[in-house]
Amino acid sequence: MSCWQGIINQYSEFLPVSDKTPVITLLEGNTPLIKAENLAKEIGFKGEIYLKYEGLNPTGSFKDRGMTVAISKAKEKGKEAVICASTGNTSASAAAYAARAGMRAYVLLPKGAVALGKLSQAMIYGAKVLAVKGTFDDALHIVRKIGESYPVEIVNSVNPYRLEGQKTGAYEVCDALEDAPDYHFIPVGNAGNITAYWRGYKDYYKKGKVKKLPKMMGWQAEGAAPIVKGFPIKNPQTVATAIKIGNPYSWKNALKAAQESGGSIGAVSDDEILFAYKLVASCEGVFCEPASAASVAGLVKLTREGFFKNGERVVCTLTGNGLKDPDTAIRVCEEPTDVPPVLEKVVKELGF
Ligand SMILES: *Cc1c(COP(=O)(O)O)cnc(C)c1O
Repeated sequence: MSCWQGIINQYSEFLPVSDKTPVITLLEGNTPLIKAENLAKEIGFKGEIYLKYEGLNPTGSFKDRGMTVAISKAKEKGKEAVICASTGNTSASAAAYAARAGMRAYVLLPKGAVALGKLSQAMIYGAKVLAVKGTFDDALHIVRKIGESYPVEIVNSVNPYRLEGQKTGAYEVCDALEDAPDYHFIPVGNAGNITAYWRGYKDYYKKGKVKKLPKMMGWQAEGAAPIVKGFPIKNPQTVATAIKIGNPYSWKNALKAAQESGGSIGAVSDDEILFAYKLVASCEGVFCEPASAASVAGLVKLTREGFFKNGERVVCTLTGNGLKDPDTAIRVCEEPTDVPPVLEKVVKELGF
């Protein structure tokens, strides 16, 4: 077939797969890189902004890129079950790919801290779902212990195949732009994705497919910013539940990505995140989840500080789909106005 066949087929030369690997795919990847001219104008950015809209993956987040590789490799090894801790998207993705592979999925979620859409996904795909009365970090700790003692494959980003698959986001950006951007803005939670993108850019650079490397700009939420503060956060707090993580697994690698590339890891407040979340939706028609907007919030912040030179090119990864968390969207917007089914009243209310 000549149409898109998923990231393993597309990028097998860069991935740890062989002819013996059964490819478990939902045709993830190949997501749009959307040029955001309205956004640039709105915030006074004098260059090019592109949005890598990962919300259009099969389960609505970039996690599918890593999951197709992790589940395919688990299948190759003859594993019959997978387990993960999750702020929501990893569990949605694990449950979907496990279903496709005919494997059992076990997921541990922090109770009450997962967006409704994500919870519904894990449930409908048929995972065994446990709500842990604790944080994501507590849940991941337990999952790692279980992985040591029972015949289940861990598919959190502690699984190296996850990051391998996630590198393909960077490949796609370079393929679309025919070079790397000057800056890559990305939300940071467990810090796997910033690590993966940096490796992906370096792969392409080594192969001579791009002439430069971008500066990696990672963004945590202020109430969940252990890397910025320099110590783990016991009780992380933020509206951006997908990055509500107090002790990221890939902490050191994220710092390495920022330092090697000449970038940085910063923090944005929930207000800044929600401002950016509404802005990309209202001026570009792109609905991402709150955590995803941390990348744009960082861009807005640095633009206002006069950080950029004219003509620079920036890519922001929008990690997940806004439909996953409709509660937040409805909460931050004006409620619909009630009207009777009467033409004159409707016309008046519309302000014509
Ligand atoms: C997982 C996730 C993140 C954080 O990615 P890390 O690799 O954990 O840093 C950000 N946004 C969304 C929507 C996610 O699902």
